[in-house]
Amino acid sequence: MNKILVIAQAESNANNIDTATLCAVNAATIIGGDVHMLIAGHQVSAYVDLAKTLKDLAHIHVADHDVYAHMLAEPIAALVVHLASDFTHIVTAATTTGKDIAPRIAALLDTQQISDITKIHSDNSFTRPIYAGNAFETVTSHDVQKVITIRPTAFEKADYGGDAQLHHHDFVATHAPTHYVSMEGRDADKPDLSSASIVISGGRGIGSAENFDIVNALADKLGAAVGASRAAVDAGYVPNDYQVGQTGKIVAPDLYIAVGISGAIQHLAGMKESKVIVAINKDENAPIFDIADYGLVADLFDAVPELTSKL
Ligand code: FAD
Repeated sequence: MNKILVIAQAESNANNIDTATLCAVNAATIIGGDVHMLIAGHQVSAYVDLAKTLKDLAHIHVADHDVYAHMLAEPIAALVVHLASDFTHIVTAATTTGKDIAPRIAALLDTQQISDITKIHSDNSFTRPIYAGNAFETVTSHDVQKVITIRPTAFEKADYGGDAQLHHHDFVATHAPTHYVSMEGRDADKPDLSSASIVISGGRGIGSAENFDIVNALADKLGAAVGASRAAVDAGYVPNDYQVGQTGKIVAPDLYIAVGISGAIQHLAGMKESKVIVAINKDENAPIFDIADYGLVADLFDAVPELTSKL
């Protein structure tokens, strides 16, 4: 029988369960077996109380210590390896955190990571994107322990309605060569980019950090999350965690509005699964119009404020 460990991505003092972890639990139940969750963090009792009620979750392992507060890869990987011996699958979401911790765990367990899976065919066969999402391959793994990251947008969220058994662990990872200094990024009151139902992204066409207020105003009107192309991030208009694309976040909202973005394949890799795509660009030949459901050939400095005022 499979024994699957889902690594939760709990933030300190979190009082809800992040969407990515809910999707990872659902993926684990599709793999099939005894599903356990590891909640490592600091002051995670509210998160644990909620997770305990997730359906199909049999056991929750809790390691509450400030060494785990920021999900740094070294202590989390040491903890997982300490617990891992009888687990057949170790699963987490392919978020920034998951992409940081999973390779280290796989290396320490001497197994090959199976990254960013979008479909589960059996407990050892999975589909995953390659070539920046331009192709999908199905892989079969014969590794005894499989370390897997799942693409959250490819899986539904797990339901509630269970009563998992709690196990507290006092293992403290002592090898901590990296230290948390500070966090710069998204305003916690704004929707989360990875799970928002509406995303508005700005590109190089926005022209400056100040001009991003045009995008922010429209996002506030729609209750949307704000994203960006890599060119906008590299130019310093917005922080790195806004980036959508091959080397950024993968999003699949109900509505994606691309403003001043040309539509390079590396950007499309992160948003082309969106249900409805709207593009605003002054160049009618911009490739983004090839995948847009609605295209507006216009100067964004006219069109976006007008759209915001009319909504
Ligand atoms: P541009 O291509 O410069 O496009 C700007 C657009 O704005 C143009 O189409 C222009 O017509 C329009 N515009 C300008 N002014 C206005 C105006 N006033 N009104 C309306 N429209 C206007 N990119 C990503 O986005 N995400 C990734 O994760 C990513 N990963 C990468 C990984 C690798 C290995 C490599 C090589 C590249 C990666 N890139 C990524 C970069 C990618 O190739 C493009 O360079 C980038 O997406 C371009 O960003 P952009 O569309 O904002 O800029």
